[in-house]
Parts: sequence; structure tokens; C-alpha cells
Amino acid sequence: MFHFVAVAECKTALPPVMSSMNSCAKCGACTVVCPVHRVTGQEGHTARGKLHLALLADLPGKGVVFEDIFSKCLLCGACASVCPRDIDVCRQVVQSRAAFPAISGAHGYEKYLARKVLSHPEILAPMRILGRVGARLLLKYLPEDSGLRLRLALFHQDAEAVPADENFPAAPHVLDSNEGLICFPGCSARYLYPEILSSCDSLVAGLGQALSIPAGLSCCGLAAFAAGDRQEAERCARNNIIVLEQSSGPILVSCASCYAHLCRYGDLFADDPVWRNKAEGVKARLVEISCFLDRQPASGVIPACTASPVTGGKKVRVYYHDPCHLRHGLIGTKIIAEPRRVLARNPQLELLELPDGPQCCGQGGLFHISAPEISAVIRDTLAAKVLALAPEVITSTCSGCLMQWRVAVEVAGAGSRVRVLHLAELLAESAVERVNGTGP
Ligand code: SF4
Ligand code: SF4
Repeated sequence: MFHFVAVAECKTALPPVMSSMNSCAKCGACTVVCPVHRVTGQEGHTARGKLHLALLADLPGKGVVFEDIFSKCLLCGACASVCPRDIDVCRQVVQSRAAFPAISGAHGYEKYLARKVLSHPEILAPMRILGRVGARLLLKYLPEDSGLRLRLALFHQDAEAVPADENFPAAPHVLDSNEGLICFPGCSARYLYPEILSSCDSLVAGLGQALSIPAGLSCCGLAAFAAGDRQEAERCARNNIIVLEQSSGPILVSCASCYAHLCRYGDLFADDPVWRNKAEGVKARLVEISCFLDRQPASGVIPACTASPVTGGKKVRVYYHDPCHLRHGLIGTKIIAEPRRVLARNPQLELLELPDGPQCCGQGGLFHISAPEISAVIRDTLAAKVLALAPEVITSTCSGCLMQWRVAVEVAGAGSRVRVLHLAELLAESAVERVNGTGP
């Protein structure tokens, strides 16, 4: 049983974060919607519990138990979306994480390495090739229930594909330039799954435009931010702002997590009006991929897919997974209807919905590393519901969610009948052909 103690009421003397921690009404609305609490039932894993613990003095001195509690958060924002006090719980959790040493707690070294890799995303492309080669070799010998086998599922679906070209640009039309439609591809599309970038490129080319990726973009910095590494998060943000300021016009973002974090760059510079203004300037230019496609006229890019004769009249059953970053209003708005409208414009696709609505997949950035058991329960519970709808394609716009779904379909033994595709891949004509087995 978790007990609350009286906290001195001194809001004017407290910094903003402490003040909002103190403003928790302890109403419990956040406990009902928290995916982690649903699995563990522990009060400390709710927003209410974390806010209470964060008020304790000498938080790092409480040791790995407390570090572990603060790692048990997906930063999904479900709690903030129902909080009557409008508490930015994700911000509180991230600030609390910053109080702990970088490699402490459960799976600390794995989280640390993941963040370091994202600080140098250019090594992801060789890792991807090695991963695919390794997947081909190891999948032959590993037992069905091997944890390593499931990790390799990230690469398994495309194991027979031509290895990624680690040399930029990944797609034939993408320009290394500040001209055309500026694109922020994120590390996943640029280095791990360049087919996402190729698909965005072909969709944009269908509109008569060219996609351009300015040289010098880095990781958005979300992984570092989520881990409480403020310095690295700010470094990534400053770098990307400087690069993006060299161009004008809309910035297309194909990854939901990158988009949400780019939108919140201004929060990193709350005390620096110059950089905050710069961040807000970039934010005003950001366009999330499903919103971009939704804004296209009926004669635009979507009919390029509908004109394809390859499906022979049979509809492809599609489940769209809502990334938490877009669904809970973390960015001040919710992007829920746009991807559905885009999919509905394609008569070849039949959109499937869960009776109880969209749910978290349990990936949560570094959460699936720091809490693999909880992450797996959330993932497999959702996957069982979704697979009962008999989808042929599971699609989303978040690179983390897509990775989690690749593992989910493998764990469920559905890898041979369900494909996991980025929304842009699904909509690009070549992807529709692949879904139906008629493509190359
Ligand atoms: S919903 Fe908000 S006010 Fe209510 S317990 Fe949770 S954090 Fe506190
Ligand atoms: S952000 Fe998500 S996982 Fe974290 S406390 Fe809130 S609802 Fe729970």
C-alpha cells in the first residue's frame, strides 16, 4: 500500500516543476489509464505515485529502487490527457530521471548504449546490415522461444531484401539540399528502414515535388531527453534548428515520435528566449506525414495508389496503430482522424478498429529496454486483440511502434501472414503491390 504524506504548501517558493508536482489533487484519474499500472497494479508506477516520490528530498540517494520506479514510465501521456490539473507528467518524470546516474538501475548499461548509438546514428546503417545477415544465420539455429530470436524479428521481415545502402541518399529522388520539400526523416527511416524514406519520396514525387534532406541533421534527441540527458538533448536540438533554419517552407516529418519531440524543442529552452524563438520558428514549419497526405487534394497523391490494378478488387485489411505521441495531445493537438481519412481515401484498403479503441503498444522508446517484461505484456495483450481482427497489414507512423509491432507479430507466430508497414510504405504503390504478393 502506498501512503501519501503531507507536503508543505509553498508553491510560490517552488520552481515550476516542483509546483506542479505539488498541485496533484491525488484524484486517481491517471491510474485508470496508465498502461504500466494496468500490468503491475503498483501505485508507484502511476503518475500520482511518481509525482509524490519526486517530491522527496535526496531522490538519487534513494538508490536503484527509485531509479527503477522512474524508469517504469512509457512517457505516453495518457495520464496527462485526463489530469484535471493539467500536470505535464512526462516532463516531471524526465526531470526526475536526470537525477540518477546514467547507467544505474535495471538494464542501465543497455539503455546507456542505446542512447550512445543514437548520438551517432550513422552507425545504424552498418548495424542494420549486420543485423539482417545475423538474423538469417541465427534464426536457423535459435529455439522458437529465444529472446534473441524475437529481437532479431526487427530485421527478419526484410531479411531477403537487398541490404540497405548506407550511402546517403537512400531514395533515388531525395536530394541532399535545402531546396524542395524539406524532410526530417529521423534515424529509423534514414538508417534502419530506408524503404520508409523511399516511399515518402515516391508519394511526394507523385505530387510533382522533390524531397530534400538538408545535410547535417542529427537524431532528434528524444532518446537522450527521455533518459534525462538534457545536455545531449539540447545538443541535438540546437544542431537540428541551425540546419533547418537554412531553409524555408514546410518540413515533412515521417516519424511520429520525432515529430512530437521536434514540436517540443521549445520546452528545452524555456529559459533562453533566443533559442526558444528559433525552436518555435521550426515548429511552425513542421508537418506530420499523415497530415501532409490528408491535405492533398483528391486528385493528388492518394489516387496514385487507388489506380493500381494489382489488388484485383480484393480489399486489404489494415489496422492503423495510433502512436501515443499523436493520440494524447502531448503536442497540444491530437492527430487521430488524419491517418484514418488518408487510409479511407484508398478503396483498396479496409480499415479495422478495436471495439475499445486505440491502445499503447508498450514500446515507449527506452521503456522496452528498461522494463522488457512489462513491455511484452502490454505488447502481447494488444497484439492478441488486433490479430483477432485478422489484419493483413498493421501500419503506423512511429518508428518505435513499428519495431514493437514487428516483434509482436513474430511472437504471435503471425509473421508470415501480417506485414508491418509504415503508412507511407502502405500508400506507395509499390508497397500495395508487395502486400498482395504481386510486386517485385
Ligand atoms: S490525474 Fe493529475 S491530479 Fe489526478 S492524481 Fe493523477 S496526476 Fe494527480
Ligand atoms: S506517461 Fe503513461 S506510463 Fe507514464 S505514468 Fe503516465 S500513463 Fe503511466
